[in-house]
Amino acid sequence: PGAENYAINTSARMAEHLNATGGKWQTRFPPEPNGYLHIGHAKAMHFDFGVAAKFQGNTYLRFDDTNPAAEKQEYIDSILSSVSWLGHRPFKVTYSSDYFGQLHEFAVKLIKLGKAYVCHQAKAEVTASRQLLKEFQLHCARNNLSRHETPLPSGAESPYRHRSVEDNLRLFEEMSKGVWEEGSCSLRLKGDLRSDITSMWDLAAYRIKFQEHPHSTDAYCIYPTYDYTHCLVDSIENVTHSLCTLEFETRQAPNGPYYWLLHALDMYKPITWEFSRCNITYNVLSKRKLNTLVSQGHVSGWDDPRLLTLEGLRRRGYTPTAINRFCSEMGITRNDNIQHLEKLERCIREELDDDTDRRFAVLNPLPITIRNHPGGSLPVECPSHPKFPERGTRVLNFTSTVFIEREDFREVDDVSFYGLAPGKTVRLLFGYNITCVGLQKDAAGAIVSLEATYDRNSLGSKPPKGTLHWAGSDYVHGEVRVYDKLFSVEVPGKRVATEIAADEVAEQLEDGGVDWLTQLNPCSLVVHQNALLEPLIREIAGSPLTSRFQLQRLGYFTVDKDSSVQKPVLNRIVTLKESKEL
Ligand code: ATP
Ligand code: MG
Ligand code: MG
Repeated sequence: PGAENYAINTSARMAEHLNATGGKWQTRFPPEPNGYLHIGHAKAMHFDFGVAAKFQGNTYLRFDDTNPAAEKQEYIDSILSSVSWLGHRPFKVTYSSDYFGQLHEFAVKLIKLGKAYVCHQAKAEVTASRQLLKEFQLHCARNNLSRHETPLPSGAESPYRHRSVEDNLRLFEEMSKGVWEEGSCSLRLKGDLRSDITSMWDLAAYRIKFQEHPHSTDAYCIYPTYDYTHCLVDSIENVTHSLCTLEFETRQAPNGPYYWLLHALDMYKPITWEFSRCNITYNVLSKRKLNTLVSQGHVSGWDDPRLLTLEGLRRRGYTPTAINRFCSEMGITRNDNIQHLEKLERCIREELDDDTDRRFAVLNPLPITIRNHPGGSLPVECPSHPKFPERGTRVLNFTSTVFIEREDFREVDDVSFYGLAPGKTVRLLFGYNITCVGLQKDAAGAIVSLEATYDRNSLGSKPPKGTLHWAGSDYVHGEVRVYDKLFSVEVPGKRVATEIAADEVAEQLEDGGVDWLTQLNPCSLVVHQNALLEPLIREIAGSPLTSRFQLQRLGYFTVDKDSSVQKPVLNRIVTLKESKEL
């Protein structure tokens, strides 16, 4: 006896499989509907759908809905919408719960084969037995003993393991009829307690949950586990390549439970292959953590533009093409994968640079009275895109009062400052030069307005050192939301070496969620309530999420879902340059 290999298909099963698929590739993307999809799922989909398409194969979208306690219709709807938003077209949309009937029959078959039993051990007892099995493994390894010939310590086996088939059939039937209470028993697989793969130690296949299920119409009160369900449904759907993230590696090993179960039931065995999870700096992706952020109100919802959920990215203004390009550049490997946020940002920035028209807005307005203005408005022609003259121009009005950013004025000038200062001349972008000739302060000493003169001959001339964006008095009022990193550290929750405590403490930190939540960036959202937008923005303010544009010198923006013609709301998608702080 050595490493058992349960992964080999018999020729009969292979023939059946080929008959069903015609030899086509079949993959699946199997999200659990217990949250919204995020950029990590985009990576998995890019691979699952991409690899099948490459060989003219099919990809199922399969809702892995075996835990009704965590699953909701809201999540199912959001997942469907995100999958199609990214451009993926599932061959079929299925639910693991579609197969609950068949899965139940397989369980009965396993009981009859003597490969499953009803167990009444409480959680703590199961944990204690598993501890004994771990010690057994260590004992054999240290003393160079064969695991297969050394007797198991007493208590390592569940006392219910050797029940008769008749008892098991009756008890399982009772479980499914609601005779037994939640937690009082489960159906366990009779695996291999000597295996060095811990998931072979009699995994739970069914547990009791008196819980409504968002999809299955039947009123079940027992539900199959992920481990029991996943391989069986892969096989039923004739998935040829079952692609997963690395945490499933040992469970899908040739001597692990995935193949053990298919072998026990004499079913077709897909090829399994694992790749690394994607993580992104300054953010979190696990659904548990996302759920905490949402339910504790640290963000406005699953589609908060600071989250890397697909709905969050969409609302932020990301395009499917930029996300798919990010996935394709990241590639698929088995190495630890922490991607830099800048990479993702670069993908959207590069796309928007050419694609978007230019607009003006002033976020923190400071008014300037132009002393020598002739009255009315002087038209200033501004190109829609400086690189592409064929995209035309629009006219902004240079009025007797104009506005610049407060940050673009300093009472005391210095060589590194490109803004306006007393006595200094700057260019209003595409317009005239103005020279600051005076300023007004309030009682507290804060600057409330400036005075300037303009040079009527400067239009189109060589600009002075500073060029500023501006607004005329025909502006539209709007709200502008400027986003930054959600966390202030690259890897939230990561402990530095000196802090690494005993396992127990580490677990507490992980589960209590204390550590990482204190690392939220307090400035991840800055709202400018009274921004001044150029008049053209009003035309798109009533159609959220459809347009993107550059606000010159400020970044790339889109129209938020909260926006309306009456009250425009803009989101900053990304800065103009890497790490330029606004
Ligand atoms: P989480 O821990 O965030 O809940 P999960 O793996 O439980 O993630 P599922 O909904 O079960 O989430 O995932 C569906 C598919 O997407 C699985 O095949 C999983 O391997 C893959 N996946 C999930 N997260 C990532 C990630 N960060 N990077 C790449 N693939 C991922
Ligand atoms: Mg999962
Ligand atoms: Mg999960």
